Amino acid sequence: MTDYQTIQAKSVNQWHASSDVIVVGFGAAGSCAAIEAAAAGAKVLVLERASGISGTTCMATGHFYLGGGTRPQLANGLEDTVEDMFNYLVANTPEPDLNKIRLYCEQSVEHFNWLVDHGVPFNDGFYRRKHYEQPTDECLIWSGNEKAWPFSQQAKPVARGHKVENVGSEGGGLVMRKLNEAAQQLQVEFQFDARVTNLVSDEQGHISGVRYTHFGEERFVAARNGVVLAAGGFAMNQSMLEQYCPKLAHPGVVKQGNPNDDGAAINMGLAAGGYATHMEGALITAPFYPPESLLKGILVNSHGQRFINEDSYHARTMTACLDQPNGIAYLITDNACFGRPEIQMQELIDAWEDIATMEQGLGLPAGSLQQTLADYNAHAAEGKDPTFHKHSDWLQPLIEAPYAALQCSLGESVYVGFTLGGLRVSAQGEVMTEAGDAIIGLYAAGACASNIAQDGAGYSSGTAIGESTFFGRRAGRHVASGSC
Ligand SMILES: Cc1cc2nc3c(=O)[nH]c(=O)nc-3n(C[C@H](O)[C@H](O)[C@H](O)COP(=O)(O)OP(=O)(O)OC[C@H]3O[C@@H](n4cnc5c(N)ncnc54)[C@H](O)[C@@H]3O)c2cc1C
Repeated sequence: MTDYQTIQAKSVNQWHASSDVIVVGFGAAGSCAAIEAAAAGAKVLVLERASGISGTTCMATGHFYLGGGTRPQLANGLEDTVEDMFNYLVANTPEPDLNKIRLYCEQSVEHFNWLVDHGVPFNDGFYRRKHYEQPTDECLIWSGNEKAWPFSQQAKPVARGHKVENVGSEGGGLVMRKLNEAAQQLQVEFQFDARVTNLVSDEQGHISGVRYTHFGEERFVAARNGVVLAAGGFAMNQSMLEQYCPKLAHPGVVKQGNPNDDGAAINMGLAAGGYATHMEGALITAPFYPPESLLKGILVNSHGQRFINEDSYHARTMTACLDQPNGIAYLITDNACFGRPEIQMQELIDAWEDIATMEQGLGLPAGSLQQTLADYNAHAAEGKDPTFHKHSDWLQPLIEAPYAALQCSLGESVYVGFTLGGLRVSAQGEVMTEAGDAIIGLYAAGACASNIAQDGAGYSSGTAIGESTFFGRRAGRHVASGSC
């Protein structure tokens, strides 16, 4: 039975076990919900479909988007305020939930300290170069659009990407190891190989348990306080992608996540009367830097026209590429700023001795690229970009032959992505109906819920795990309080 329909408690013949709180899935969100619920005195049972801890959090770099004066920010003399962080996130969010963003910013320092207290290590290093993820174990990095126009005008730019102390990528595994240790110390109980398929509701319609399968055996577990859905997103469910998130469904985009990112939690929440929101939202990207010298190049579409300040956060830049006619985009460089992209998501198309020949080689309208470059170069020589406001750090006339074009088009360049939409939840993690009522006993957090991140253009690295852990904690505290 995988239709996700909610089962009536009265039809359950045998309950296998009971707990105060059931947490479905043990990633960033589930671990934090479990820890907080257990710390508040609740008996907590985690049901995890995998045979161990292996969710998408384990695949992650380990960035958390945090600010407002965290220890690493202060150690580096960075002056950040709740207000600047709030203004930045609001400016980058299509439909910002002001209450949630404010909570997230006001309690960001507390959340950082809580992570540290629960064993998640961060040093005070600051990787100052432009990179999609620091190759070192340094903590801080510019991980969003803070320095890019127009956001640089809307909030004081401050670095807020905090990476767990781990060299290079895959710091998410370290995060999960530490959060698992914290959960074990609090006697959180685990059942692995437990695929939750349905919620159970009582006669009042309150969520009172779940059904799961364990190597084909059906089991029911009762939840006295409630159930926290924390089972990840839906990047691996092609039919859901086609229905809700066509950009990510495109065969030219590699879906990122673990195999269990099949949208089960969202579907169970929907079946219980919940409502899904921002489901079209996805982080889709194909970073072309490092080398950062490539940021001095310009992106043009099939009309030979620029369309974005190229120094934006890579997901904003690449989302803009996808939005061009037929998803066609080229990065144009000259000999002075050329370098091969380190992660090789873009191929070098070719190099030409002059712009007119390049224009022909790329099949661009006659004169279009020549005009675009003439305008760009004239302004860049004065350290200006009046059209798209690229920062002067990256402005340099492209005048040294040969000229190269890197392929950034959808279907030609390697794009990767994961989902951002999910169940509508309150700031306490309660799953909400379309009418805005809380479904009693049902919570959601992490990639199966919608809290802060809504689209790729406004995304900053670290927002997903930042909000998964933060709102996971809030859900855990609320469900444990029995106030549902
Ligand atoms: C390569 C990569 C790098 C990333 N790097 C970052 C980063 O550095 N910073 C950042 O903020 N975000 C990052 N993200 C996004 C981020 O990792 C995820 O959004 C986040 O980890 C989701 O956490 P979660 O707890 O919701 O899900 P998960 O960590 O996936 O945990 C969900 C768990 O639920 C289990 N589960 C699924 N279905 C069921 C079921 N039916 N019953 C029981 N259990 C179930 C799964 O097995 C899984 O263990 C990255 C994503 C990818 C793919």
